[in-house]
Amino acid sequence: MTTRRITRAIKVGSSVVGGNAPILIQTMTAVKTRDVDAVVSSITQLAKAGAGLVRVAVDSQEDAAALAEIRKRVDANLSVDLQENFKLAEKVAPYVDKIRYNPGKLFRLEPEKPWQKKVEYLVKVALDNDCALRVGVNCGSLDPAIVARFQEDADAPNPADPLIASALEHVDFLETIGFQRYCVSIKDSDPKTVVLANKRFAELRPDVPLHLGVTEAGLPPRGILKTRVALEPLLAEGIGETLRVSLTVPADQKTEEIEAGRLILANVASGEIATPSLLDDDALNIVSCPSCSRVENSRFVELVKKVEEATAYARGYPFTIAVMGCRVNGPGETDGADIGLWCGGERVNLKSGATLIGSFGYDEIIDKTLELLNAKIKIYNASQIDLNRMGPDGLLA
Ligand code: SF4
Repeated sequence: MTTRRITRAIKVGSSVVGGNAPILIQTMTAVKTRDVDAVVSSITQLAKAGAGLVRVAVDSQEDAAALAEIRKRVDANLSVDLQENFKLAEKVAPYVDKIRYNPGKLFRLEPEKPWQKKVEYLVKVALDNDCALRVGVNCGSLDPAIVARFQEDADAPNPADPLIASALEHVDFLETIGFQRYCVSIKDSDPKTVVLANKRFAELRPDVPLHLGVTEAGLPPRGILKTRVALEPLLAEGIGETLRVSLTVPADQKTEEIEAGRLILANVASGEIATPSLLDDDALNIVSCPSCSRVENSRFVELVKKVEEATAYARGYPFTIAVMGCRVNGPGETDGADIGLWCGGERVNLKSGATLIGSFGYDEIIDKTLELLNAKIKIYNASQIDLNRMGPDGLLA
């Protein structure tokens, strides 16, 4: 029987996150926010399926105006996702219960202004509008100042360390200015890093509620498995007050994220905890975003499926292919992969590591991806032959 830790409780609309409240399952819409009818329909469907909180992305004044209309037509608890556009907070806060900000995106708008001033502004907006905040740290969009700090460190940092540092920096600041109605998320696409980062953060700040998730978990069933491997051990230790399973599924199938969340909670309750051995570290790893209102082409989910099918022959190779749906997070969140694809409206950008190879039509991109993958396989195979020929002295025999 799992003993839940007791964090501080924060009110989010009609729900409570933390304290003695049940673990809240949440999700996000993936239709254009300005399409009010489609968003209302999606939120209604998700709330009916059991989402305790539904997040909506807002990137423009038009999106913000749409949110006012959406609020009139749904009762669900709503969260708004602001990436660099933190200044839209005052426009949308009257219509939502929680504001998610990303510490790694605050620097983009008004770069001369210190991030502390921007957070003070967000806190004031939250207080004026009875909203909670989420400090949402993500591996693909870490604050460049934190990245630089860890790069200076001669010892290679654990990948969890910069994530934890970013979260702690914001938590410390929020506490200093007397704001406590917030939760934290620390997400990575690697389940092991999610476990490490959240365990460590929970040790350091056991009072702060945690939103758990694996970012870009990808297509089901593998995306569900990756999330299980990360979340079930944490929840079994009593860590985690709310969660999201981020799956690459079409907008009208987002209820699958809620069902997967329920499966995870049921597994933990019955003691069936997924272990890392269920995932093969040496296998081809495809990470893909769950898509949201920012997705630039409705063919995105189909594209991810095609990438998975077309690269199946390379399953035994230890490469990561990242497929992202838009230009907001696509460029940054593909940097760490061996091969990255990020979608524009008509073309898909192909990267090798952080280097852009070119942009290609949706009908050409699979062939171009396979060309790049085959070139990488060739280099990898050659290096393995060299390794096999290497003697104990490290020299080629
Ligand atoms: S990469 Fe873009 S489309 Fe995909 S979830 Fe992130 S913001 Fe949304």
